[in-house]
Amino acid sequence: MIARRIVQPLLQRPGFWLGGLAGAAVMWAALELPYVNWRRAVPPVDERPVSIRHDARGSGTYQAPRSGNRRHRGVDLAGALGGPIRAVRSGTVIQVGAHRGLGHLVELEHVGGLTSLYAHLGTVQVRLGQRVRQGEIIGTVGKTGNARHPAIAPHVHLEMARRGQLIDPTPYVLDHAAVIGQEQDPDDVGRD
Ligand SMILES: [Zn+2]
Repeated sequence: MIARRIVQPLLQRPGFWLGGLAGAAVMWAALELPYVNWRRAVPPVDERPVSIRHDARGSGTYQAPRSGNRRHRGVDLAGALGGPIRAVRSGTVIQVGAHRGLGHLVELEHVGGLTSLYAHLGTVQVRLGQRVRQGEIIGTVGKTGNARHPAIAPHVHLEMARRGQLIDPTPYVLDHAAVIGQEQDPDDVGRD
């Protein structure tokens, strides 16, 4: 039997298995490397420092009071109208839709039971089930849903949850260095 004469000795050589393993590792790396999260989070907007909306119509901080005894379920990050909105971490698109209050929205699922939802989008640039890389553009800043009011500054509403429980997105998106940079530096007095 030719198959026996060729295949069996091959299977008995450790090099065959090691080669296969190395090949699988290279394949895995090629497929998965783009989805590695190199940072804890990438802020959804490109503006630096990242700032939370605060205008005549209200505050965009997490848990800020809203009408009807409600609380703000996320953070509102100021961004230029039409500017890109990026995925905070790599993940899969689990919701693309339009909601009365949230307007056009995208929701991503990340590993570890984390989810992120982006609302008031002008355009959506991903589709349901699509896998996205950390920092990949998923849509653009718009004024849809409740953000339509002229007095509300353009922003993206970001909601995050872990296993369905809302969490404060602030530590994920406010760059620590940027926050420190806003503090008064004694050596900096007198400069613009
Ligand atoms: Zn909001």
